[in-house]
Amino acid sequence: MTDQQAGVGELVRVTHRGGTVGAAVWDYAGEMTLLRTFWDAAAAVDPAAGELDEARQMQPSDAAALGRLWSDAGLADVRTSAAVVSAAYADFDDLWQPLETGVGPAGAHVAGLDPDRRDALRTELRRRLGVGGSPPSGSPRAPGSRSEPWQADGRRTGRADVRGSRPMAELHFFTGTMDSGKSTLALQTNHNHAQRGRVGRIFTAHDRAGEATLSSRLGLTHEAIEVDDAFEFWRYVVTSLTQGGRIDYLICDEAQFYTPDQIDQLAKIVDELQLDVFAFGILTDFRSVLFPGSARLVELADRVNVLQVEALCWCGKRATHNARTEYGVMVVEGEVIVVGDVDNEAPAEPEHVAYEVLCRQHHRRRLTAARAKAVSLAPEPLPFG
Ligand SMILES: [Zn+2]
Repeated sequence: MTDQQAGVGELVRVTHRGGTVGAAVWDYAGEMTLLRTFWDAAAAVDPAAGELDEARQMQPSDAAALGRLWSDAGLADVRTSAAVVSAAYADFDDLWQPLETGVGPAGAHVAGLDPDRRDALRTELRRRLGVGGSPPSGSPRAPGSRSEPWQADGRRTGRADVRGSRPMAELHFFTGTMDSGKSTLALQTNHNHAQRGRVGRIFTAHDRAGEATLSSRLGLTHEAIEVDDAFEFWRYVVTSLTQGGRIDYLICDEAQFYTPDQIDQLAKIVDELQLDVFAFGILTDFRSVLFPGSARLVELADRVNVLQVEALCWCGKRATHNARTEYGVMVVEGEVIVVGDVDNEAPAEPEHVAYEVLCRQHHRRRLTAARAKAVSLAPEPLPFG
């Protein structure tokens, strides 16, 4: 590896969050006895061979350097250790012959020597290994090799910029009323993560802008994957990852329309694949009943955030409820989803249907802004003379 940082960075990139990146490197400079002796012998025969010494070529060759390389790549819980690997050879030829096949830097060096120099190296190596004469097979003088490769492993956290910490993936649920800016926050969340080099997937259902688009009331849009009742989050994510795709997080807008089973799949993705899931949705429908998807999110989310960008009722109090009006009159019965259409035509909400956010008191009294205005304009006896 000529560029170790780039190499380890690539290992980290292709590893799932929570996955382990491990490597071992021969301790060429120290305990890798056979190759250490080989290169010393090679340099004794031909000083130029010192340039090829694997102790110089193969860096890092100690545990501290290897551990630093792992930590610098943002891996957490980095451990370094050494293993002892021994090999015994029947006789010197058993050791020498693989070198003549040209495998590895040592083999390549042997294969590149002329016959005279190869014999000289063979003799020098035998001398240094202390193998005299031609010991019979099984002789106690048969050479052995002992090596201690350094090992390092570390866990990918998914947030390579936070060194040494161990953030766990979470299921976040951001909720609020219709005008609380959830879709804007969804797009902003995606933008923030994408800027940090993370890769996400955006999902929506029954968006006001039509299928497969996430739109905010401020006019921002982003393409999205449409979630219908048959969509399987778990299968989608596992298939994408299996095919080599990268996913660090999911943005799930209009999550109130997802089925409880789809919310369960999102929780499984967080737990088993360690991907962050950011779900955005309205809590209750115009009848002030929890949407099934939102109910399941409240039950399963690691964090439920009620949006701070608060919408206000016409009276100035915090708007906590969604009202639907038909022909200007608030209704509390009817189909929950009016937008969208199975024939995949442009989703059209009937013109006489509108939504408005109200405080609980005015939702209970079905007092919309239009009705409040009409009432206030009506002649009314003053309570005092
Ligand atoms: Zn009110």
